[in-house]
Amino acid sequence: MIIALNNKSNFTKEEFLEYKEKLNKIQKNANLILCPTNLYIGLVEQSNIGLGAQNVSKTSCGAYTGEISATQLKSMGVKYCIVGHSERRKYQHETDEEINQKVKLLLKEEIIPIICVGEEKEERETNRQNEVIAKELEEALKDLTIEEKKKVIIAYEPIWAIGTGLIPTNEEIEKIINLIKCHLPNTKVLYGGSANENNIEELRKISVIDGYLLGGISLKLEKLDIFLEKLEN
Ligand code: PEP
Repeated sequence: MIIALNNKSNFTKEEFLEYKEKLNKIQKNANLILCPTNLYIGLVEQSNIGLGAQNVSKTSCGAYTGEISATQLKSMGVKYCIVGHSERRKYQHETDEEINQKVKLLLKEEIIPIICVGEEKEERETNRQNEVIAKELEEALKDLTIEEKKKVIIAYEPIWAIGTGLIPTNEEIEKIINLIKCHLPNTKVLYGGSANENNIEELRKISVIDGYLLGGISLKLEKLDIFLEKLEN
């Protein structure tokens, strides 16, 4: 199981250092990937927890003030990078084309993109989730070879479930994950959106899930510990 922890824009440096020490003590079988705020990437030393970034520049190294390139992430030991998170699509107006550029730059550096796809509430209510997700996948993976497509991880994150406490039914999640796997048979698919220590016993019944992308609960280590315990036992 892959468990990717998206800390988003949380923690001061001191808080992060304390968090990181405690996280290192959580011994689990799951394949943990920590995605701290990009600024703190250099504070994470080599361990059995994978290092991820939350974003990458759509450009290579060069005169792009404030940007962090895939080459620079690689040089800091980053192995994974979240791309196309709905918060970036919404607040930074990230487009499918930019997401595709980022995916290509990451793959060139052998960093595994964790590509987020998911529908808005209104799209689910009008039963358009399949077409929305198929289009997001197509655009994000445009021009990639079959081999490259095998390397990416997809995170199904219904936008209306992120940070809201709302969650699709197991049947709804399973249908979307099967749809993604139909497009990408050899690709790992995570679920993200209000997954927590209270609903993991229900979620873990979905056999097609390869792991979880966690936001809110990634910040609360006691709850994360219970989540992992229930996931694995
Ligand atoms: C996310 O933002 O990727 C996420 C899954 O958040 P949360 O777990 O808080 O819903």
